[in-house]
Amino acid sequence: MVITVASHKGGVGKSTTAVHLAAYLKEKAPTVLVDSDPNRSVCGWAVNGTLPFEVIPLHQAARRTREFEHIVIDTNAGLRPDELKEIVEGCDLLIIPMTPDALSYQALMLTVGLIGNIPGAKYKALLTIIPPRPSRDGDDMRQELESHSIPLFTTGIRRFVAYQKAALAGVPVYQANDPRAQEAWSDYLSLGKEI
Ligand code: ADP
Repeated sequence: MVITVASHKGGVGKSTTAVHLAAYLKEKAPTVLVDSDPNRSVCGWAVNGTLPFEVIPLHQAARRTREFEHIVIDTNAGLRPDELKEIVEGCDLLIIPMTPDALSYQALMLTVGLIGNIPGAKYKALLTIIPPRPSRDGDDMRQELESHSIPLFTTGIRRFVAYQKAALAGVPVYQANDPRAQEAWSDYLSLGKEI
């Protein structure tokens, strides 16, 4: 299975989602994470620490992904329409992470508008970095997306500082030194099950 994580906007948890999906999938079958982000956020993550799966740069993907069953691709933000088309046609599922705010919503609708013209495109939006209650931003955004019939994961990824600690340490969130690390990881576990 090839899963690509893409977004027109940065800072929406794209790399975090790619890393944790790969961490989930590698428990099922050999999994590799392909990092095509020129900012190298994921490769940086891999350099700093010990991710439990292999991370390879895009330019080595053709030769090195053959032995893996699952391939997770972290793309760069700000994709051109032609790039987006190639991406959609080259994966089994496109995940578009978005935070529950107006700018992220605008970026998502732009992406969805472009994807709408591609026959057979399989994509799903993922709400990320959802603020805790009493904020209702996550629920409100879910309602808004549903009212526009945007395919959306039932699972939402909540906001936890454990993710930032994990990124700094270069480990998946379940290894972060934070009392809520397992609670944070449970969101990506349930996302993995949905896929
Ligand atoms: P992108 O790849 O979209 O630019 P990142 O995955 O790099 O986004 O995340 C941007 C920032 O938000 C990073 O500092 C990351 O640690 C943090 N972050 C990502 N997901 C969460 C979350 N669920 N809760 C809290 N912080 C998060």
